[in-house]
Amino acid sequence: MSEHKDFLRTIVEEDLKAGKYQKVITRFPPEPNGFPHIGHAKSIAINFGIARDYKGHCNLRMDDTNPTTEDTKYVEALKDAVEWLGFEWDGEVRYTSDYFDKLYEWAKELIKMNKAYVDSLDEETMREYRGTVTEPGKRSEYAQRSVQENLDLLERMKNGEFKDGEHVLRAKIDMAAANMKMRDPLLYRIRHAHHYRAGDKWAIYPMYDFGHCLSDYIEGVTHSICTLEFENNRDIYNWVIDTLGLEPPRPYQHEFARLGINYTVMSKRKLLELVEGNYVNGWDDPRLPTIAGLRRRGYTPESILNFCESIGIAKANSTVDVAQLEFCIRDDLNTKVPRVMSVLDPLKVTIENYEGSEEFDAPYYPEDIPKEGSRKVPFSKEIYIEREDFCENPPEGYYRLTPTQSVRLRHGYIITCKEVIKDAQGKVIEIIAEYNPDSKSGSDTSGIKVKSAIQWVDVATAKEVEIRLYDRLYKNEAPQTLEDLNPDSLKVIKNALIEPAVITDKPDVRFQFERQGYFYADPIDSTDAHPVFNKIVGLKDSWGKKEKVKAPRAERKSSEKKVQIDGEVEPMSDEQQKLFDKYTSELQLNSMVADILARDEKLSTFYAEVLALNNSAVTIANLVANEVARELKEANKLQFKASDVAQLVQMLDEGTISNKIAKEVFEEMAKSGEKPSDIVTSKGLVQISDPAAIEPIIDDIIAKNPENVEKFKAGNNKLLGFFVGQVLKATGGKANPQVVNELVAQKLK
Ligand code: ATP
Ligand code: MG
Repeated sequence: MSEHKDFLRTIVEEDLKAGKYQKVITRFPPEPNGFPHIGHAKSIAINFGIARDYKGHCNLRMDDTNPTTEDTKYVEALKDAVEWLGFEWDGEVRYTSDYFDKLYEWAKELIKMNKAYVDSLDEETMREYRGTVTEPGKRSEYAQRSVQENLDLLERMKNGEFKDGEHVLRAKIDMAAANMKMRDPLLYRIRHAHHYRAGDKWAIYPMYDFGHCLSDYIEGVTHSICTLEFENNRDIYNWVIDTLGLEPPRPYQHEFARLGINYTVMSKRKLLELVEGNYVNGWDDPRLPTIAGLRRRGYTPESILNFCESIGIAKANSTVDVAQLEFCIRDDLNTKVPRVMSVLDPLKVTIENYEGSEEFDAPYYPEDIPKEGSRKVPFSKEIYIEREDFCENPPEGYYRLTPTQSVRLRHGYIITCKEVIKDAQGKVIEIIAEYNPDSKSGSDTSGIKVKSAIQWVDVATAKEVEIRLYDRLYKNEAPQTLEDLNPDSLKVIKNALIEPAVITDKPDVRFQFERQGYFYADPIDSTDAHPVFNKIVGLKDSWGKKEKVKAPRAERKSSEKKVQIDGEVEPMSDEQQKLFDKYTSELQLNSMVADILARDEKLSTFYAEVLALNNSAVTIANLVANEVARELKEANKLQFKASDVAQLVQMLDEGTISNKIAKEVFEEMAKSGEKPSDIVTSKGLVQISDPAAIEPIIDDIIAKNPENVEKFKAGNNKLLGFFVGQVLKATGGKANPQVVNELVAQKLK
């Protein structure tokens, strides 16, 4: 367990100490309507992780109350994901549908207590009666039905005597409740649909608010951990359990922030759209953030769990930079996988003065990695090098092969270019070179100094491989529609080349192809006759602003840096090192951010000043390492003070403003030097996250667009974006997009 305790573990410990529970029981309760994604991995890591840390157990429960969208293939994918991440659920997989009889009994009990009634208002009127945030609702006249009539109607609803939507069962709570969720919420609805497990027994299905809390209770769950959008449902959760007077111990709900990552989408519904529309190749397409996709791409379970741990557990939603996930897989593979040579875009080199052949003995791992193993690398007169490792008219700082600059062949000799052969179009098709016989790697007596070493393969023995290069699925950070898809997210190279040991020796399935990145033998398509490798991740972040960031320490350590040609990284001073260590251990910063801060005195001083005023170490560090650093570089003098940044972070922590708006406020603050709170007030930027405030707007938009609602219900999923967009527009972009998304999806179900 990490030393730094998150708020959920703090609650669990307090409950155990107070003797509230003898044993911690959690559950992971997915709806089997799609493949799980990395957001689910976070929930899995939290629920199973807490159970493990406190010697309790965690159940895997399929929340299967919506028969029209569920499927056993999703159940299998969910089981797979949990196992692959290394967790074990308690006993058999559980299903909410196994509790349908019990739930039904409880529903009848509520009716007998006069706490539930069958309502027969049409949808429109029901919405009207619900009221708004500022006005109380009005109870349906059907609420006066007698217990007997309610029991009779519910029984007949269950037996399928009525059409979908004709009646619902509602809790009788309070039509004037400030929390609009408490205005007589729905408990059951009619659905004439075949259930993949319960068959045709039921024509009614329990709503989440009724089924979830009671399923938790049935299983003896102690801590029911869910995401923030259920915050307002907590009152119903408690009401159901309290009203039924269930015997203790009973479960309590706790919410944490959903994981969102930039450049991708993270909802099963959106993922389903990509899969069904063939925008990707199935649920395990390596570009998807699904666990199956990440796994097929070559991510390890460890890297994903490390990622989940590194982002922490928060109470405010935020978006994590995908670079952080990529950092975690690099960090993991760096110490694990063999290094080999590949050539993706071959250029032939003939070494004029070499005859015969030989084999170089080359270790698979750099010196600082405590793993053993080596292979023979065959060499002869004809080799291939990477096309971009030769340049006829090199720019300044080009350290590889040129007509006048020698280069070392990794693990081999130093070669010098003698002649450049071109085709009729002037394209270089071959290099004639010479080697220096005294320059062999490991026993070099030539005295020649070269600036870099490059990878290569031997023409006679190299194996042909297919390489699949993946890039981000979306071209922009916060994708909204299919138009944001990155058209270049997959590039296939059919005739790349690799040294033979990769296929004949098979030291592993994951490799670092030197200077190219980390690769994984595709578990489905790769065979010895036709090897296929997926690119997992590059050796360093090559996207956007991070481009200029120096490699974090974990990556700098490896001895391959000796031959790395792009910019050596300076070692840190003792003082910088001390700061770096404090940042990564005590403050839990990721090493990329820690590296930036530790190496820059102005930044680390500023960071310390903000930290003295607000203790959100990670959020502040990200702001200082990115935004503040950019300001310092561009403007040289800051218009704002540490206290302003502290205030900004506080507003972010409290959820007053969204991440996106924080960036906007920061820009303004950097320009004008105004206080962030003043900017937020004067520009009216406060984020609206309260569902009760957003729901009436959604209702309004739904009411105004009946045609689109119909089209959506008939299967045009793309229209969801339309509705969300309208709502965001109506609030001037201030509504919390995640909350809007959830609510719209819920309402259109
Ligand atoms: P989606 O919106 O992607 O379909 P969901 O919330 O409907 O997700 P469920 O299958 O109902 O997904 O959720 C299973 C569990 O995983 C829930 O406890 C849910 O809160 C959690 N979960 C889902 N998405 C995320 C996420 N992005 N980050 C953290 N936890 C998540
Ligand atoms: Mg869902």
